[in-house]
Amino acid sequence: ALTAFNRTTEQWKQIDTAHHMHPFTDFKALASEGGSRLIVKADGPYLWDSEGEQILDGMAGLWCVNVGYGRKELAEAAYQQMMELPYYNTFFKTTTMPATELARKLVELAPPGMNHVFFAGSGSEANDTNVRMVRRYWTLEGQPERQVIIGRKNGYHGSTVAALSLGGMSAMHTQSGLLPGFAHIDPPHHFQLGWGEDEDAFGIRAAGWLEDKIKEIGPEKVAAFIAEPIQGAGGLIYPPRTYWAEIQRICNEYGILLIADEVICGFGRTGTWFGSFTFDIKPDLMTIAKGLSSGYQPIGGVLVGDRVANTLIEKGGEFYHGYTYSGHPVASAVALANLKILEDEGIVDRVGSDIGPYFQGRLRELSDHPIVGEVRGIGLIAGIELIKDKAKHEFFPNAGKVGTLCRDHSFRNGLIMRGVYDTMVLSPPLIVTRDHVDEMVGKIRR
Ligand code: PLP
Repeated sequence: ALTAFNRTTEQWKQIDTAHHMHPFTDFKALASEGGSRLIVKADGPYLWDSEGEQILDGMAGLWCVNVGYGRKELAEAAYQQMMELPYYNTFFKTTTMPATELARKLVELAPPGMNHVFFAGSGSEANDTNVRMVRRYWTLEGQPERQVIIGRKNGYHGSTVAALSLGGMSAMHTQSGLLPGFAHIDPPHHFQLGWGEDEDAFGIRAAGWLEDKIKEIGPEKVAAFIAEPIQGAGGLIYPPRTYWAEIQRICNEYGILLIADEVICGFGRTGTWFGSFTFDIKPDLMTIAKGLSSGYQPIGGVLVGDRVANTLIEKGGEFYHGYTYSGHPVASAVALANLKILEDEGIVDRVGSDIGPYFQGRLRELSDHPIVGEVRGIGLIAGIELIKDKAKHEFFPNAGKVGTLCRDHSFRNGLIMRGVYDTMVLSPPLIVTRDHVDEMVGKIRR
């Protein structure tokens, strides 16, 4: 619609660099490099820029456009809901049909024993809700000293001050300050931290870092452990198959709550509805966002298991927490329409049984490339770790330099993939076909 402004691409870029502060961006460098590429439309797994160039979106936006672009059903759901009731809140004893129905539907999809949902506007907000809930839970349970939440180095849980503290991105901690009451352990990164070691043994050893940290802090002070089933933005760190069972055992042994951040893994990405199903995790709380609405509307939330919900409900009184957009009716209506597409078209099953294995198989063909050290992933999420010398297991100096070059080159050549340090990450829309996968693999090799 904004084509009515009749501006040239150059004019758009000038205005953008003059006034728009982009997320996770070096503002000055962006301006000196000629500004941002202007994306103007999309369909299926493809984007087009203002120059008419077609780009295959190997990242589904920011790991979120699960049903692909251009789904009229989602636009219609938003339109109808806006005409009927564009906004009303879920505070002060009111609700709306979309928010209520979405809560019911999510509980139906969630692991058994998760019977409640708290809505937020994003993954970061939902993780702030986790922090509030976990601490409230332990206070109500008569153990208010249990406040510390343990996350993982290079874990990503969002960009608010609490969410960045849950996360383990040291650059974010340095810029904004890590809140007190958070600790981090190393991730189960076999390729970097356990090379040469049997992977199953490494998985147990890496889970043991949680136990070490609990003992170091004092078990009576630890409230919860948070982790992504597959660590995404930290470099697509895929857990050894022994890892999660051992993490689960440790959480049970010390009675600490387990939070699975499903913001990336949820809604089909790993070939099941949640990463927790794929890795047999039994979390007390689950963070959801992104694929919940396929990114068509901003929405997130926390799926709350009975252990926490019962305490908050039975002992808690009023919980002083919530967002203006908790259970937003339009976002909820779009999320419902999105879940209907995922179900009606059997998209999740197809990722698990057909296109996911095909994608993983084709990507592994890249292993013969001299700088491809490891290809890892499941379903439609994968990482390709680049390495300088395979035989010596020697990494490139200045981690991230090669990854960034590779990402930028790929972007210019019609494929979006992300570089996290020197790991190239892919997380395409779940509706990609074998032809799209073949196109992706060809471009990646180039
Ligand atoms: N959790 C995980 C695992 C994520 O990957 C992200 C975003 O990438 C978030 C939380 C934060 O979500 P949002 O950007 O919607 O706040």
